Amino acid sequence: MEAMAGELERLRAEREELDSRIRLLESQFGASLTPAGEGDAAGTGAGGGGGGGGATACPIRRRGNGFAAADGLPADMIYRYSRHLLLPDFGVEGQRKLSQSSILVVGAGGLGSPVALYLAACGVGCLGIVDGDDVELNNLHRQIIHKEAYVGKSKVKSAADACREINSSINVMEYHHTLIPCNALEIVRKYDIVVDATDNLPTRYMISDCCVLLNKPLISGAALGLEGQLTVYHHNGSPCYRCLFPNPPPVAACQRCSDSGVLGVVPGVIGCLQALEAIKVATDVGEPLSGRMLLFDALSARIRIVKIRGSSTVCTVCGENSAFTQDDFQKFDYENFTQSPMSDKSAPSLDILPGSARVTCKEYKRLVDNGERHLLLDVRPAHHFQIASVSQSLNIPLSELEEKLQMLETSLKDTTDASSSDKPPSLYVVCRRGNDSQIAVQLLREKGFLSAKDIIGGLQSWAQDVDPDFPVY
Ligand SMILES: [Zn+2]
Repeated sequence: MEAMAGELERLRAEREELDSRIRLLESQFGASLTPAGEGDAAGTGAGGGGGGGGATACPIRRRGNGFAAADGLPADMIYRYSRHLLLPDFGVEGQRKLSQSSILVVGAGGLGSPVALYLAACGVGCLGIVDGDDVELNNLHRQIIHKEAYVGKSKVKSAADACREINSSINVMEYHHTLIPCNALEIVRKYDIVVDATDNLPTRYMISDCCVLLNKPLISGAALGLEGQLTVYHHNGSPCYRCLFPNPPPVAACQRCSDSGVLGVVPGVIGCLQALEAIKVATDVGEPLSGRMLLFDALSARIRIVKIRGSSTVCTVCGENSAFTQDDFQKFDYENFTQSPMSDKSAPSLDILPGSARVTCKEYKRLVDNGERHLLLDVRPAHHFQIASVSQSLNIPLSELEEKLQMLETSLKDTTDASSSDKPPSLYVVCRRGNDSQIAVQLLREKGFLSAKDIIGGLQSWAQDVDPDFPVY
């Protein structure tokens, strides 16, 4: 019996191997199997939808042979997805719908990783992945689709390769650029369902508007710190993002993972749930989270589901009298509307001080080398200061600065006492990226610390321009 089981196992493995070779060959002849100009073949679809590909639907790869029955699933699909087929509520019909669906995942980061992996594994017909960024080492703790070998390479390529390694029978489309109003309509239009796995406010509004204009359900997720949330917009009468938030929140209320941190598993949990909702919408199985929002609190291990209001009749985009057209969409300035950038790379930088109140990192380094008496005030939060700091700097977080001016006064006095010169010590202020330090200098100057100067670009510039060994985070 054991020998027979072994033989069976061996034959199945051999069949899988043959199937995958057949698929590889088929994909090399991809042009004849998929619409002209859209074949992704074995991974050559990079940016395929970004050009003038027109509005054709995302191609779903179909096999020319191996069908078990005229209306049944191909034999290799039956074996691969047998655990799905065994589910009475899902079954052959669910799997067939999945294999005929096309899903676009916007963002190949912490949320997008599990979304793309699960959607590839479970056999969606066509999976599109959009992301303009490259893989960075500090992504890997949560963006589990990427491997170390891909650091410095395109996230989309990395994610698509990982998906193809899991399931070579699906079509994976790569869009290696940031989704923006002038390319969003053309890409989104090719897909049945959109998953928002991005992490910034302007993109959230943009994807929602785009989905309303093209009438696509939107699986929206967010994760920050130790909390996450999830809902399905614009589906079965559920609202769009603008129905819930007609006006963007003030800039100060918007946080990002790169500023506030995120525990790696949290986007993983939300991303898995997004994949689940996408599968439910694609197959019409179960009750999608439309009109409801799931809130996840990792610390207390609590999941709450709250009802949210239905679509608003006065919504400027999906409301009854909305005059918002595709043309308006393409011209809409989402960054200006939300007062925040679409990409981390263009994080907002303040410029509120006169040039005389600022020095570059290199200038600061020179005066340290020249032995100029001074005090370096670091205004980052204490837990940032613990990550890394410049030696001999004094940490008073910006939020506590006003109430701790006495402490600063004392430190300055100590610096004076230790100095042999009569010249009062100068005061330099640093933070992580050079924004908070400007606010601090403005405050300090108002409070009489007239020598306070900002170090331009903060510790990020320090690491870049002066000390390459200084840890970047
Ligand atoms: Zn709306």
